[in-house]
Amino acid sequence: MNNIMDGVLASQKLRSKITEEIKNTKITPTLAVIKVGDNKASEVYVRNKKRACEEVGINFVGIDFPDTISQDAVIAEIRRLNNDISINGILVQLPLPNNFDAGVIINEIDPVKDVDGLTYTNVGNLVLENECLTSCTPMGVMELLSMYNVDLDGKDVCIVGRSNLVGKPLIQLLLQQNATVSICHSRSLNMKDYTKHADVLIVAAGHPNLITKDMVKDGSVIIDVGINKENDSLCGDVSFDEVSKKASLITPVPGGVGPMTVASLLKNVVKAYKIQNRF
Ligand code: NAP
Repeated sequence: MNNIMDGVLASQKLRSKITEEIKNTKITPTLAVIKVGDNKASEVYVRNKKRACEEVGINFVGIDFPDTISQDAVIAEIRRLNNDISINGILVQLPLPNNFDAGVIINEIDPVKDVDGLTYTNVGNLVLENECLTSCTPMGVMELLSMYNVDLDGKDVCIVGRSNLVGKPLIQLLLQQNATVSICHSRSLNMKDYTKHADVLIVAAGHPNLITKDMVKDGSVIIDVGINKENDSLCGDVSFDEVSKKASLITPVPGGVGPMTVASLLKNVVKAYKIQNRF
């Protein structure tokens, strides 16, 4: 039985839908991405976003600053983009160099253009279940679960990792689907007690082989958000070979959640365009 959740295929389906929508509605959404410094991983991520935008018909504006730029100058650029009606989405590529305050910078983005869903306004609206732009990786996880018809109603879902980017927004999205949610982190005692009882286990810790077969329930659904580099190749947080034998469904790394994150960003840019243009 093939129990692999194919994020590449699922993201292609999502991108095709977005391409169709952009074509049919004759809109041209535009995403601006600000990158500061020359972090190699960030360069790859920004390049991937640019390619993905262009494939579906979203305009991409890349703004590259050297790490010698001041925080005030970055903020001034964000304010300029906020006021530019031709820009629908603004994203600041993280991480920023150490001398920048990411929280301050991100909260300069107009919430209706905050396609990463990280401003205080969007985080608050998510909790209150108001219309908002939501963080892309949690959106991608939910999309993948939905595409594979995983019913969350009343189910026990355990998240490992409580970051603002992944774990915390996921709590809200899962609650909206009536899941019973538990969340573990580096200070959790007896983490296995929670993971072992989960119908759905979502892991976003950044630790290879954190989840082993003794920690999961037979027939559970396993979503591995982790991306780790080991011996020059990528792996997730789950010991895939052994855990996949117990899971009913499982995401691979690479090729699972990663592609869904980029597709969700595209979805958010279109959503931002619609909010701004009252579509
Ligand atoms: P993060 O901000 O470093 O948060 C990691 C979380 O995991 C923290 O809450 C931490 O607990 C918890 N944790 C760390 N070690 C643990 C352990 N041994 N046991 C239990 N919990 C532990 O990371 P992040 O940004 O959420 O990213 C997590 C992983 O997902 C990384 O590998 C990242 O590369 C990957 N990621 C993938 C995508 C994608 O598109 N696929 C997107 C974003 C992130 P404390 O809070 O107690 O420190």
